[in-house]
Amino acid sequence: MNAGFFIRSLLVLLPVFGVALGFALPALGLGPWQDSAFAAFTIPVLVVLSYDIVASLRRGEVGLDIVALLSMAAALFVGEELAAVVVALMYAGGQFLEAYAERHARREMTALLARVPRTAVRHRGDGLEEVALDLVAPGDRLLIRQGDVVPVDGVVASGLAVLDQSALTGESIPVEQKAGETVMSGSTNAGEAFDLTASHRAAESTYAGIVRLVDGAQRSKAPMSRLADRFALAFLAVTVLIAALAWFFTGDPVRAVAVLVIATPCPLILAVPVAIVSGLSRAARHGILIKGGKAMEALARIQSLVLDKTGTLTDGRAKVVAIDILGNDDQADVFRLAASLDQASKHIIAQTIVAEAQNRQLSLTRPSEVVETPGEGVEGVVEGRKVAVGGLKFVRSKLLPGAESPDRSDAAAGGVVVAIAIDGRWAGEIRLADELRAGTEAFLQHLRTLGVERVVLATGDRREVAETIVAGLGFDAVRAGLTPDQKVLVVLSERKSGPVMMIGDGVNDAPALAAADVGVAMGARGAAASAEAADVVILVDHLDRIVPAIEIARRSRLIALEGVFAGIGLSIVGMVVAAFGYITPVQGALIQEVIDVAVILNALRALGDGSAATKA
Ligand code: ADP
Ligand code: MG
Repeated sequence: MNAGFFIRSLLVLLPVFGVALGFALPALGLGPWQDSAFAAFTIPVLVVLSYDIVASLRRGEVGLDIVALLSMAAALFVGEELAAVVVALMYAGGQFLEAYAERHARREMTALLARVPRTAVRHRGDGLEEVALDLVAPGDRLLIRQGDVVPVDGVVASGLAVLDQSALTGESIPVEQKAGETVMSGSTNAGEAFDLTASHRAAESTYAGIVRLVDGAQRSKAPMSRLADRFALAFLAVTVLIAALAWFFTGDPVRAVAVLVIATPCPLILAVPVAIVSGLSRAARHGILIKGGKAMEALARIQSLVLDKTGTLTDGRAKVVAIDILGNDDQADVFRLAASLDQASKHIIAQTIVAEAQNRQLSLTRPSEVVETPGEGVEGVVEGRKVAVGGLKFVRSKLLPGAESPDRSDAAAGGVVVAIAIDGRWAGEIRLADELRAGTEAFLQHLRTLGVERVVLATGDRREVAETIVAGLGFDAVRAGLTPDQKVLVVLSERKSGPVMMIGDGVNDAPALAAADVGVAMGARGAAASAEAADVVILVDHLDRIVPAIEIARRSRLIALEGVFAGIGLSIVGMVVAAFGYITPVQGALIQEVIDVAVILNALRALGDGSAATKA
């Protein structure tokens, strides 16, 4: 991108110099060399352009750059050297403008990466030491000074934290966090200094996850948009046809050149990427990472929504309400073994259980031989004992033949139940209250007004839990007890009725996210296979951010389309006028540049607020 930007800048200077030199030559008594000067400074642009075209044809892409190539070559061929060098200038200028606009639009996303802290201030004995970020381990006590970016995820150890999360979430009002509350890395300390107990290493913290995702999204040179491709061939055909007709009926090749020139460089090449990148950038300001033009377009058109339950529809910060023990085991012991094992899992309920155990000051030990079945549960060895933790079905399947397992099908229908088996025997269950996110009802209604026709729940949890929690919310279907593969099937069957958005948070959602037209992952916490499989990542813990994301996507798409139609319309009018001989090639090149600048300025509107994109 940077090298490209440099070459583009250099490429504009050549024809600028060529034009200046050409017009200076007669004054120096070298008039006859004027046309050669124009031609000489067109040729490098022509060479670079041909190279680009060959490269894109190899990738199987037919771009509109071909029109630019045709018009420059044709102008040189018929002896319109001035027109040729002006087209070269306009083309190179258009490329430069586009690169500039794209950089401008990406600034927001780049800003997110620029703030990454490199060191942290750690308590040691009575003193403090500055350490490299990689050396910070969970349990370390860090001092977060005023203005510092919180380097790792952690818990407020003392004092009151006032955090500005605007760079991550777009939320401008600082949030206050008391001792014992969790702090997301990447926030800025907007209040007094406070102490933080690290809960994750830097590389496993939220901020690192976000940075990795943004970085990856920027690096991927995926095709910006299918929108432009769809129109490219048609526009190419129309241009060549009008040029050919003009030549055929007048016998004057200069007419054809004027037509080609006016079609170059095409607003299609400019309007669409600029509008889309502007939209991506604007979404980033709301804490939403959209991974490219394709995802953005799909987001603008979704008709069905498939939602995961735990951690997506519910906020995942479940509370442990009861621990029921079956036999004579000590309750704290069972809980400690289960939590020790769950340390190895990234499942959101597992994390809740670990946090609760730490709250109860239980000392957890390291599990070994851990095997996780995503969305069902996890098994492994803790302190020499074989432990299984997870859903009822999963844990039942881990019991020794003949072992007793209580029938809990009707118990606490609405709450999450995590079962525990130790050494092949049923040990007990942990009951958790996992509530709907605040504002879920309004969120779903908002989506309906945006044209979402079907809303389906797809959960790995039990049917009783699922149905209780969505009662009254107007879901069109509830699919429960699903494995990751079955979630994919739900998405595929919904796709029959239109573009589908799937929102999920867990590893068990990743395949379904990939299968959907738009996969949306909640949060970028740690590894998050889901965030990698997804097209859109909600970087913050607010499900309803998807509403502004859809609105931004629609607005950007609309602006891109406007640019395409207005730009193409004007170009075609110009081509027809040129075909009738009212515009010379040089005039044509100038007119087209005015159109292109207008189109780019219009596309940059997608960066702004607009009336359609309301705040969430
Ligand atoms: P959803 O699909 O709604 O997000 P999941 O399939 O992720 O739900 O989880 C369903 C249930 O599986 C949880 O409520 C919990 O009982 C159990 N579960 C899965 N993995 C684990 C784990 N690692 N630790 C504890 N419980 C788990
Ligand atoms: Mg989930």
